[in-house]
Amino acid sequence: MPASFNPTRRLLVKGIAAVCLLSATRVGFAAPAQMVAVRVWPSSTYTRVTLESNTALTYKQYMLTNPKRLVIDIDDLNLNATFRNISTLVKTDDPYIKLIRVGQFDAKTVRLVIELKQDIKPNLFTLKPISEFKNRLVIDLYPAQNNTGDDDPLLALLNEFNKGQLDDNEPPVTTTIQKDKNKIIVVLDPGHGGEDPGAIGYYKTREKDVVLQIARRLRDLLKKEKNIAVHMTRNEDVFLPLIVRVEKARALRADLFISIHADAFIKRSVRGSSVFALSTKGASSSAANYLAQTQNEADEIGGVSRSGDHYLDHTILDLVQTITKSNSLILGNAILSKMKNVSTLHNSRVEKAGFAVLKAPDVPSVLVETAFISNLNEEKKLKTATFQNQMAKAIFEGIKEYIKLRKK
Ligand SMILES: [Zn+2]
Repeated sequence: MPASFNPTRRLLVKGIAAVCLLSATRVGFAAPAQMVAVRVWPSSTYTRVTLESNTALTYKQYMLTNPKRLVIDIDDLNLNATFRNISTLVKTDDPYIKLIRVGQFDAKTVRLVIELKQDIKPNLFTLKPISEFKNRLVIDLYPAQNNTGDDDPLLALLNEFNKGQLDDNEPPVTTTIQKDKNKIIVVLDPGHGGEDPGAIGYYKTREKDVVLQIARRLRDLLKKEKNIAVHMTRNEDVFLPLIVRVEKARALRADLFISIHADAFIKRSVRGSSVFALSTKGASSSAANYLAQTQNEADEIGGVSRSGDHYLDHTILDLVQTITKSNSLILGNAILSKMKNVSTLHNSRVEKAGFAVLKAPDVPSVLVETAFISNLNEEKKLKTATFQNQMAKAIFEGIKEYIKLRKK
């Protein structure tokens, strides 16, 4: 993943580790934990606070009222400037957080107080180091009630996910909305988001930002079509687990699902657009295999509270209907045939690999790699409205072609 493309941060982190080792040796016992970064990710669905530290944190949590607040006591932590800065990261339009305070509670305990704007359900969990990230304590704040009042099943799915109910071997009975039979439901899935930046280019362009921009342009084109209803898995800078993206498409009874990416490859010379469909029997090339592996790490990078939700890897795959697979290939080929007019193709055929985000058993799904953000020229192009519009238009034309060709 982005590690190899961000040498500065890696060096910095190594430097911090070396300093800590030194002080621990000198004093003769383990030094208190240090915060190395803090982040706040507000979104309409949930707000996430991430505390990243050099060693794993131990903590206790309490909910208090008057005013409503979540209190987290962290043991054996040095209250440094990085952590104190957290109070400045809260945005006034955060739906859940009014303010955050941090202070030394007693000699060994640092207290974090999150004052709330509404009743919330907190979900706290820790993550071990992965990629460029050190130890993380993640604080997710979900609304106690679904007060959005819209048809979006996302919050219900996230709740089911947190309870472990999306983990079963049976296809989950998800919240479904009334389907308009006259419309073709298209779900667009901008890859990554929030805590997971996706790949990062040489000029620091983040995959999560450019793919959201391309998806919005594509959504605007699809909205003008009378026979199409378009939804997005995310329309904000929010992290969503892979299985929640898949389940959202299923809950919306999608007719097709398109995941949009702009990943990095180990060689900067690699460039061009490609389209991937699911394979349950290995990858069609080593590059396809590499991309599927790095994409499937998104849950560990973005951070989910439970691990091992591989329900899709076993029983469900046997249920994958032949028609879904062949429609996925028809969709992929239709998109490729339009993309070749505006971009170099990395591979002129639909590639196959075990992407977790393509595993809805009943929704034809493809993953589009618009370009490689690791290639300097393509990184520059990805930021331009011209290229973003060309990509959106090509995928749009591909979708229309697919609707004509698909098997029912
Ligand atoms: Zn990606």
